[in-house]
Amino acid sequence: MTTFADLGLRGEILRALEDLGYREPTPIQAAVVPIALAGRDVLAAAQTGTGKTAGFALPLIELLAAHASTSTSPARHPIRALILAPTRELAIQVEESVRAYCKHLPLRSLVVYGGVNIDTQIPVLRSGVEILVATPGRLLDHVQNKTLNLSQVGMLVLDEADRMLDMGFMPDLRRIIGLLPAARQNMMFSATFPEEIRRLADSFLKNPERVEVARRNAAAETVTQVVHPVHHERKRALLVHLVKSRDLRQVLVFTGTKLMANRLANELNRAGLQAGAIHGDKTQQERIKALDAFKHGEVRILVATDVAARGLDIEALPYVVNYDLPHNAEDYVHRIGRTGRAGARGEAISLVSEAENRYLEDIEKLLKTQLVKQPVADFSGRADELAGYVAAPSASAAPVAPAAPRPRAPKQIAALFLPPAGSGRR
Ligand code: AMP
Repeated sequence: MTTFADLGLRGEILRALEDLGYREPTPIQAAVVPIALAGRDVLAAAQTGTGKTAGFALPLIELLAAHASTSTSPARHPIRALILAPTRELAIQVEESVRAYCKHLPLRSLVVYGGVNIDTQIPVLRSGVEILVATPGRLLDHVQNKTLNLSQVGMLVLDEADRMLDMGFMPDLRRIIGLLPAARQNMMFSATFPEEIRRLADSFLKNPERVEVARRNAAAETVTQVVHPVHHERKRALLVHLVKSRDLRQVLVFTGTKLMANRLANELNRAGLQAGAIHGDKTQQERIKALDAFKHGEVRILVATDVAARGLDIEALPYVVNYDLPHNAEDYVHRIGRTGRAGARGEAISLVSEAENRYLEDIEKLLKTQLVKQPVADFSGRADELAGYVAAPSASAAPVAPAAPRPRAPKQIAALFLPPAGSGRR
């Protein structure tokens, strides 16, 4: 078994990892760290929850440690590494991790993102930081204002590149890459590799070493997935029923639109369940407030859209509910990646109306597994809730018609993105 010490990381970093309770590298870390330490470019296929952040951050810190300086002079702290992330939440989390990993080293890091007053970021930038984590738009604002200098950047990381593509950041990314010194090491992480991402990789990575962590890791069967067939008009009632009857807490609920996220959160509050909503129209302060309330248990349900939830890292989040199924099967994988992290158990519950069957089929194709369809026994089922899945129920309204395949026990499907069972977590 590889240890962090085997990977060639210095004592200060090992101590920081110990403080965090990381006992052994995750597969992506064991694969990426040696390649990056050798100075090679990396192209990695990895989802959130694999430990990918430490995968790129640890070698980056190890390599920068040679330049670490206790001097207070800003000139001794030029930006040497740039990490780009698609959303503010992910950028914040990445920087928090970076800061934790280099807490015993005199390296400085900063995160800059849009939606907050740019002026507050300028003094810190002026005082000098080696590691800058940024969302693309805000980075370009600083470039335009000449409030940062990228001429010393020797390392570039693109995190969740496919999401940057989805969010329309491709032109910004190309502009930023064009502003950096040519002699630099690059790492790119993406969960998926559509054509445009492959082209981007070809254009800026130099002879990259490719790394892919197994999508299915038999050692990490920690997410239970279940589908509850339901008429679309009764989803809210079913959600309320599930949360109340099972006394669920810390439930992250996904909806397809911002409008629906707001509406559902209001309706849940009216039903007596404390719920918050986060989506792209909320200010950064509102999102952080909602997330904090959720993390601290003041809010029981957090309703989110895919974009807003990207990069959320809520420790040991037990439940993810797909109120609407995503139209893109890969988003399903991202969503359920919010639960069952780093060895903790989790449950992914999907409320699926008949019209969503085609999305369900796409998801099953991607996962190469059939998800368990299970009408909720103590929620009075309607015939049409079952129609999409099984033959119409008999007049006695048995939840499952005799001809129907019996629901199997929820199958533990291998989670796609977890370190081996038994690894520590912070
Ligand atoms: P990431 O995929 O980078 O978002 O990481 C997912 C979660 O796993 C975060 O909470 C990390 O702090 C945690 N983590 C990362 N690497 C390890 C490790 N080697 N051991 C235990 N937990 C880890």
